[in-house]
Amino acid sequence: MWVLGLLHGALRGMGGGSCHHAALPVGSSRRYVRGMSDALDTFCLALPKVDLHVHLLGAVRQSTFAEMAAGCGIGAAEIEALYAGEVPRALEQRVLRDPSDLHRITYEHLQDAAAHGVRHSEISWNPTGTQHLFPYARGADAILAGFADAATDFGVSALLIPAIDREDTPEAATQLAGWMLGHRRDAIVGLGIDYRETDRPPELFWKAWRMAKGAGFRLTAQAGESGCHPRNIETAIELLEVERIDHGYTVLEDPALTARCAERGILFTVVPSNPDYQALDHPIRRMPAAGLLIHPGTDAPALYQVTPTRCWRMMVEDFGFGIVDLRDFMLNGIRGSFLPEPSRRHLEAAFSAEFDALAAECFPEGVIA
Ligand SMILES: [Zn+2]
Repeated sequence: MWVLGLLHGALRGMGGGSCHHAALPVGSSRRYVRGMSDALDTFCLALPKVDLHVHLLGAVRQSTFAEMAAGCGIGAAEIEALYAGEVPRALEQRVLRDPSDLHRITYEHLQDAAAHGVRHSEISWNPTGTQHLFPYARGADAILAGFADAATDFGVSALLIPAIDREDTPEAATQLAGWMLGHRRDAIVGLGIDYRETDRPPELFWKAWRMAKGAGFRLTAQAGESGCHPRNIETAIELLEVERIDHGYTVLEDPALTARCAERGILFTVVPSNPDYQALDHPIRRMPAAGLLIHPGTDAPALYQVTPTRCWRMMVEDFGFGIVDLRDFMLNGIRGSFLPEPSRRHLEAAFSAEFDALAAECFPEGVIA
């Protein structure tokens, strides 16, 4: 039992009853949290988090990008424009020089994430985008060294998910899977896919998925982003045997597929800061009520100017979920992570206890133990 008192609405979502799909009146999304704004901030900052949807090159610090880009002769105005729009491609094509750049970006990102309560992160990276600079193994090992250093210095764990660049060819994806098979490391856990989904459906890359699956890698895919057919989600889970979906909003256009995803417990790593929808119309609002498991990710913190704290806060402020819902999302993320089962069980117990203590502390009038 959780909820009583003055904060009932905020804790349970704006509906007061069912917390999952309550609609906020236009323009009111901030009004109801006015009294609890500071508490919500404290809560969302301290909330123990995993981040399962973050792209390494979309997470570079602005100061680091500026320094690296200036070193490549790019002018200040262009640096600013690139950071706001094309930072991953700019890094791949114009700025990165050496695997040590990847180490630095990784380490700094995990430092920033840990400062916002992230304890475990699953980070994707497109190795084909840097193959003209250094081979896969050198890039991957530099990132893993960043993970190890961040674990020592900030107590955060991380796993790497090499990702298919779907704007590249299917043959490049197959080549990537081959690199993964030839360079096995414990912290390289799965295969993903990202970049522009429009006209690049997941089945184009079936061979890479098949190779990775056969070698024991976990599978995740960006599918069903705004404007993309829900068929891509169906293909990913049915044909390619992907275990979780990044974004996946258009699943709601297909009720039968939605029901299947709900039944199977497919996790959708949604992105509150995704600019393709207005908050009030965002499918994120409706996904839990349809039985889907969701978990908020930062995706590309550089592009979206979002921190993990802001990401979770948006789930309450912009999407109308309650604190109890955040607990569900937190557990969804742990259960859908690619950590081994004992680690997941440990995190579930530790995060649950911490969440409950934190909620009681931040919202003393609204929570009973
Ligand atoms: Zn993404």
